[in-house]
Amino acid sequence: MIDTHCHIDGPAFEADRRQVVERARAAGVTDIVVPGVAPSGWEGIVELCRGEDCLHAALGIHPQALPDLDPGDDDRHLADLETWLTGSGAVAVGECGLDGPAAAAGASLDRQRAVLRGHLAIARRLALPVLLHSLRAQDAMREELERDGLPSGGVLHSFSGSAEQVAPFAALGLHFSFAGPVTWGSARKPLAAARAIPLARLLVETDAPDQTPHPHRGGRNEPGYLPLVVRGLSDALGLPADDVERVTTANARRLFLLPEERP
Ligand SMILES: [Zn+2]
Repeated sequence: MIDTHCHIDGPAFEADRRQVVERARAAGVTDIVVPGVAPSGWEGIVELCRGEDCLHAALGIHPQALPDLDPGDDDRHLADLETWLTGSGAVAVGECGLDGPAAAAGASLDRQRAVLRGHLAIARRLALPVLLHSLRAQDAMREELERDGLPSGGVLHSFSGSAEQVAPFAALGLHFSFAGPVTWGSARKPLAAARAIPLARLLVETDAPDQTPHPHRGGRNEPGYLPLVVRGLSDALGLPADDVERVTTANARRLFLLPEERP
């Protein structure tokens, strides 16, 4: 199993990161993609992932980080991002994207679009997939992605769109990743969306420390809970959990060009 989105670099794991990784491995998680969300965290992620075979860096600027960053620094940050990504062994650009609530919090949608465009250009130049955050901004996201395309693909992480929104994003070559909400009994929309996605485009993630799956909801999430997400998705699809595990693992290896499992 591959956790395609886990913020294990964050402060929530400061005290016990090593044990969290060990528990994940014991639960069958072979690889974890660690997305950066702000320039201040990039160096730490690169170092963390260099020191641990199963961790893979991705670097980007999360739209929710933009209200705390000076817009005058956006271009410099994007130039720094490309420098950091080059030769860092990173497997993706991101996370980046568009966020309705962040627009209300002070980062205009125009600024968010410009920063996203910068990420997409870097992804094209470095031939890397992108990890996309898209919250209440699906139409704007589609417009940005349709502009120049994504030759190395990408992921709509923690996909929260509807079944109707799947086809246009799938046509762009995107993957769709699911997290803890597929285990929450109340989450009907992601279940219907999951059934509309081609199997070859499905991924799983924990998004830890957030989006904790049932029955741990309310507590901190961790990558060792990924089997619960796989089970939730398998229930939604009406497929055996083993099949969902096998398919999503192969999809993630192909997208992020991860080597086959180490002995
Ligand atoms: Zn995230």
